[in-house]
Amino acid sequence: MLSRGAVDTGKERAAMVEHQLRRRGIGNTRVLAAMSEVPREAFVPEALKASAYADSALPLSHGQTISQPLMVAMSVEALELQGHETVLEIGAGSGYQAAVLSRLAKKVYAIEIIPELVDHARGVLDSLGVDNVELLCADGRKGWPEGAPYDGIVVAAAAEEVPPALIEQLREGGRLVVPVGGKWGQSLQTLRKRGDRLETEDLCRCVFVPLVYGS
Ligand code: SAH
Repeated sequence: MLSRGAVDTGKERAAMVEHQLRRRGIGNTRVLAAMSEVPREAFVPEALKASAYADSALPLSHGQTISQPLMVAMSVEALELQGHETVLEIGAGSGYQAAVLSRLAKKVYAIEIIPELVDHARGVLDSLGVDNVELLCADGRKGWPEGAPYDGIVVAAAAEEVPPALIEQLREGGRLVVPVGGKWGQSLQTLRKRGDRLETEDLCRCVFVPLVYGS
């Protein structure tokens, strides 16, 4: 007999991709494929596994959240990845978005400031055989110079101002996706580095947890 969980999560994942993503304008087939493959239930707390494919953010430990699937899809789609890139994620949380990025880019550097979340994310990524994600426990506002320059950077927490180190570590022509604004609401923006200029595009309104200040 097929395991009930395996059948149900595959169906729920396919429904999530169709209804929450594709019909709401996510058109990049690589993004849709990646999100069809990554088992979101592996990243959510045990008590919430039944809600893993809900159309919402879900709580993690330490007052943090795993972002709504649509926000993950919009953020990673905006990076316009082809598969050969090196990318940086700030705010790895559960590791879910890093797992999605691992299928879209060659190498993923992901930073999370809460040590317990880093340990948990590392365990889940290892259990799924994801081997192109490096996780670091640090203040992501400083970026990760060792991996720079990055073709794409995605920030999964709200920034009042875009941390300058992230712009410095972005490759010429690279894209930085970041929710910019205060605690109660932000604009998800794509910034494209063009010499000394940054071309800015507003993608949508959003509500992310704030980027906190490390020491
Ligand atoms: N991308 C995550 C969800 C992120 S929620 C996922 O797929 O599950 C935002 C995360 O940013 C939280 O885990 C929070 O602890 C982390 N964070 C907040 N400020 C940070 C900082 N300065 N540096 C690194 N991570 C930070």
